[in-house]
This record gives sequence, C-alpha cells and structure tokens, in this order.
Amino acid sequence: RPIIVLFTRDLRVRDHPALAAAADRGAPVVPLFVVDPAITSRAARNRIAYLCEALAGLRGALRAVGGGLVLRCGDTVREALCLAHETGAGRIHLSADVSALAAARSARLRREAAAVGVEVAEFPGVTVVAPGELVPAGGDHYKVFTPFWRAWEAHRWRDVVAAPRLLSLPTGVSEGGTPEDALKGAGVGELSPSRQPGGEQEARRRLSAWLSNGCSSYERLHDDLAAAATSRLSADLRFGCLSPVETARAALEHPGGRSWVRQLAWRDFHHQVTAAFPGIAVRDYRPRDVRWRDDEDALEAWRGGRTGVPIVDAGMRQLVAEGFMHNRARMIAAAFLTRHLRLHWRHGAAHFHALLTDGDVADNCGNWQWVAGTGNDTRPNRRFNLLRQSRRFDRDGDYIRRHVAELAGLSGPDIHAPWRARTPPVDYPIPLTDLGE
Ligand code: FAD
Repeated sequence: RPIIVLFTRDLRVRDHPALAAAADRGAPVVPLFVVDPAITSRAARNRIAYLCEALAGLRGALRAVGGGLVLRCGDTVREALCLAHETGAGRIHLSADVSALAAARSARLRREAAAVGVEVAEFPGVTVVAPGELVPAGGDHYKVFTPFWRAWEAHRWRDVVAAPRLLSLPTGVSEGGTPEDALKGAGVGELSPSRQPGGEQEARRRLSAWLSNGCSSYERLHDDLAAAATSRLSADLRFGCLSPVETARAALEHPGGRSWVRQLAWRDFHHQVTAAFPGIAVRDYRPRDVRWRDDEDALEAWRGGRTGVPIVDAGMRQLVAEGFMHNRARMIAAAFLTRHLRLHWRHGAAHFHALLTDGDVADNCGNWQWVAGTGNDTRPNRRFNLLRQSRRFDRDGDYIRRHVAELAGLSGPDIHAPWRARTPPVDYPIPLTDLGE
C-alpha cells in the first residue's frame, strides 16, 4: 500500500529520514504538503514567501526522481487522512516536531488515523539530536545549556540517510496547483520574493559558501554587529531545507566549525526544552516575580525603532527591513524591552514572530525567556548595560549608521548616545527611559 510522507518544516529530499524510510519500503510514496490556514494566518509574510519558494524547489527535486509533491489546502490532519483514503495509503510518515501546535497536530493525526486503520510513524530530522534522546540523571530534560552541550557533543549523532533515487506517485493522484495557488487558497495575498531565495538548493549553496568563506572567522567575528559575519542560515534550518545533522557534520570538517556548531546545539537545547514544556510561548518557564508594565506608546516606539537608543533602534529597523536581526541585536532589543521598559516578553516574542523569516516557537520564545530571566539563564538577574554593549559590539557605530538614517551624520562616541552630542539630531527621539549606566 502507498505511504504518505507528510512534509511540514522539513522541506528537503536529502537526509530526510521519514522520506527515506518510506522509499526503502518499496511501496509508492505520496509526498504531501498541506497549506494550513491555522499556520499561514499567523506566519510572517517573509516566512510565507520563503515557504512558497521552498515548496516549488521540493516539488522540483521530487519530480527529478520520478515522484511529485501533492499540495492541498485546509486542515492538515483532515487533508492527510482524505489523501490516505483516496490513495489507499496504509501509513503516514512525518518528522517529529515540538511546538504545542505540532504536538497537538500529531496527537490528533495518530488518533484519527488509528480510527481508520492508518499507521502513523514519526522520524527525527528537525534537530541534530532529537528531543528526549539526551536526558540528564534525575530529570526529563536539560535545563542548563553547558551540561547539555557537553552531552550533545559527546553523543553519537544519527547517520545521514541517502536521498531516494527513484520515486513514483500512485496512478491517478493529482499533485494539485502551484504553491502560489495553494497559498492563495489559504487566503494569502500576493507575495514578494523572499530576500534570501528559499529552498534546499539555495540553502545548500549558502551553506557551502559559508563553510568555505565565513565559518573560520565565526569565533572572532560572530558578535561584531557591523561585520554581519554569521551564517544567515537560520531560515534554511527553520524550514528544514538543510538537514541539521548533515550541516553539523559538514561544519566539523571545516576550520572554526566547532564554535559554529555550538549554535546548532543551542537550537537543539531550546527544542528539547519546548518538547518538555510546550507552554513556552505563553507561560514563564521559570516564573519570576516581575511587575510588568502596560505602556502601549513605549511598545509602539520599540516596534518602530524609535526608542531613542540607537543600538536598539538599529536592530528593530533591521528586523522590519530584512525580516532578520543579528543575534546580538536581538539580545539587546529584547533586554531593552523586558529589563528597561519592563514590558512583557510575550509582546516582544509576538512582534519578532510576526516578522522573522526564521521565526520559530522554540527558538524565539526560548531566547526571549532567556533574556527576560524567566527562561534557562543561570543568572536570571543579570543586567545588560546597553551603552556598553553598543560600544563593544558596534565599536565604530557602522551598524547603527546602516540602519538609522537620522544618525548617519554622527561620528565618534556620539553615535551611541546622540543625546550627549553638542547638537543632537533634531529628528531623532530622546531615550524613552534612563539607561541607568
Ligand atoms: P549563526 O550565528 O550563524 O548560527 C547558526 C545557527 O544556529 C542559526 O542559523 C540558528 O539556527 C542556530 N542558532 C544560533 N543562535 C541560536 C540561539 N541563541 N538559539 C537557537 N538557535 C540558535 N533563532 C531562530 O532560528 N528563530 C527565532 O525565532 C529566533 N528568535 C530569537 C529571539 C531572540 C530574542 C534571540 C535573542 C534570539 C533568537 N534566535 C532565533 C536565535 C538567533 O538570534 C538566530 O538563530 C540567529 O541570529 C540567526 O542568524 P544566523 O543564521 O546568522 O546564526
């Protein structure tokens, strides 16, 4: 009987355990992606643009080996079971995922599939090490990164699996329209092209350029805001256009790879926390007694990059312009919102999620809670001295000048604190709050 491979955030053919296992069984394989309004209605435009391109690439790659990609629009579980009924499929394969939405979807799929005699099998593939594979003595998940990293590095990662060489869709199965059609069917309007072209082929090209030209300087330059010397592979990993295991193994063969691979361990860390604590997007992981304020004007100024603190505004404007923000800027912007303005981290996480191409529940909320002190930071009361961060990580102010046009004419130390300039720029606000140096 045919096997359905339900793609979600694993939009590749290489090192795809769920697809490889289906192909190995020798039965016809029906690759399926469902454009589900429950997800697309909440996703950033940038993410949808990336998704659209990644789906076109995936369909091309599956066709190249004789198969295809069925695109449907609607409720994922219902569409998968309808297709199983239409094709007579007896199994559905998918990659295991951890967000509350993904976990509820897979529980429902298992339940409803079992009722009609269809088996559901979940496979690894979203992280290097699957959540739950590493468990500390006396606990169900790692709460602190350093011991997790030690265990993660020493662990034997799963082997990379080969891409299927020959697939065939069962006769009579229609692939449906283009990704654009499917997205329109889910109520998504016109899309502009993604800033970084989406899809496995482009992602692999970026990875190989990064490993040859960027990775060796990562340790030295990763926090330098103006150098922008990080991989920018986060959206490729977010959509699974790159296999995390294959990526990590390849990186370790290159100079500087270990330092960069540590970031992939951070990603795995947040995923295993989310698997154990699916409420991460709405509840404090480690509740803390903070009196959050309500201040819609301050929140709006933060969102719009008009807080009067140049390093914060530069990051927030990069986010709007590029659907991306440098990690150091994300930390600074998040610290300003939660520590200085004392506005709830959930507002910040929601705004980031609405704009980031790499927006992902586990990584976004895990990091927001880390900065806010309600997450896994072992020093939840740490103070971020924002001016010191600004001078240290944007020494010459080039990152600020790149993103905050009103300050382009400032030089020297004034770029970090324009309110101290002899003639402060008239069109740039004074800081929303005392930075308490
Ligand atoms: P590189 O520095 O080249 O790192 C390589 C990869 O490692 C990244 O692509 C990413 O997949 C992973 N990674 C790096 N740092 C982290 C981290 N701290 N946590 C988890 N994974 C990491 N990352 C997301 O992918 N999605 C998010 O929604 C997200 N939200 C964030 C929100 C806040 C408040 C903060 C402080 C960080 C957030 N991050 C998020 C983590 C990090 O900022 C981005 O992964 C990184 O900036 C992406 O750029 P890069 O690909 O050049 O990273």
